[in-house]
Formats: sequence, C-alpha cells, structure tokens
Amino acid sequence: MRVNEIFYSLQGEGRWTGRAAVFLRLSGCNLKCSFCDTSHEGYTEMSVAEIVAAIGVHPARHVVITGGEPSLQLDAELPGELRSRGYYVQIETNGSVALSADVLDMIDWVTCSPKDAPVRIGRIDELKVVYRGEGQSMDAYETMVQDYGALPYLQPCDVGVASANARITASAIDYIKSHPHWTLSLQTHKMLDIL
Ligand code: SF4
Repeated sequence: MRVNEIFYSLQGEGRWTGRAAVFLRLSGCNLKCSFCDTSHEGYTEMSVAEIVAAIGVHPARHVVITGGEPSLQLDAELPGELRSRGYYVQIETNGSVALSADVLDMIDWVTCSPKDAPVRIGRIDELKVVYRGEGQSMDAYETMVQDYGALPYLQPCDVGVASANARITASAIDYIKSHPHWTLSLQTHKMLDIL
C-alpha cells in the first residue's frame, strides 16, 4: 500500500475527539478541494504486515485510516488484520468511492466528509460537513443525515484568515442553534497545535 505517514496523536475532530489514536494516512486523493490542508502525495510502499507492525508500536487500540482518500486502495485485508488484533477501526473518507460490503464489515466507524462529488459509500456513521459559511446549501446533507442515519457534525472551514474563520464559525453556530440535531466539530488539534 502507498503510505504517506503513520503517526500517533489524539483524534481532533468529530465523534471521537480527544481519543488517542494511531493515524494511517494513505497517499493520494481522487479530488482536488481548494481548501485541502493535507499533504498526502508522498508515499512509502508498505505491506499490510509492515503497516500492522508500525501501528503496533503505539499503545492505543483505535486506528484512523485517513488520507488523501483511503478508499482508493483499501480492501478488507488491512482492517481485518487490525480487527483480529482488537483494534477499533475508523475510516475518514470523502465518500465518493464505494466500498464493498466485506470492507465495510471490517470497519467499526465510517466518518464521511463529502466534498464536491457524489457520495457513493454505502454506510455513514458520522457525517462531518466542512462548513464554508452562510449561503452554503445544507439540503443535500440534511437528506444524507436522514438516509444514512448518520450522526451530523458541522465543522467550520479553516480558510487561513482569522477574521473570516471567526465569521464562518459564528455562522456554523447559528446554523446549529436553529438545527439542533447538528453538533459543532472543531479542529482541536490545530487549536492545541498538536499533530
Ligand atoms: S477530499 Fe480531502 S484529501 Fe482529498 S483533496 Fe479534498 S480535502 Fe483534500
């Protein structure tokens, strides 16, 4: 597999915020979002056994498979190996690539953060919408919350300008206050300046 990096930190966003986790960042993405803040192109080729061994040096038993877009190169083998060792396996995906049922069966938690592409994944446990401010249509996401039975999280987009970020966050809070089934997700790892 093409591995961009494996690192140990705390989950900074969404449902599992604050939980110690090993992050496996797979290289490459099928989308090119203008606000992408992840460097994911470089990679080292690693076998599943090498990845499992690298993850195993850390004490946490929560693994986040992320990217880039991890579904581009994920089959059931890696999550199956992790599950058989007692790991809780979370995937973070843009949802635009369908994962087969045998892969989804090996994943405990699907976090989908849709971008400007149709969502084709068959299961979403947590819908994490990157909110770009007032005027962004939420209709499609509201439908997805219903269709998938997903936990809905609204995450203000970091546009790199403090004043604009503050406006976007205030707008996200307003949306949640008028649609209280949503929960605010903050990029706490950025706020705390941790990896
Ligand atoms: S889907 Fe995610 S990783 Fe891919 S370009 Fe967009 S923000 Fe970056």
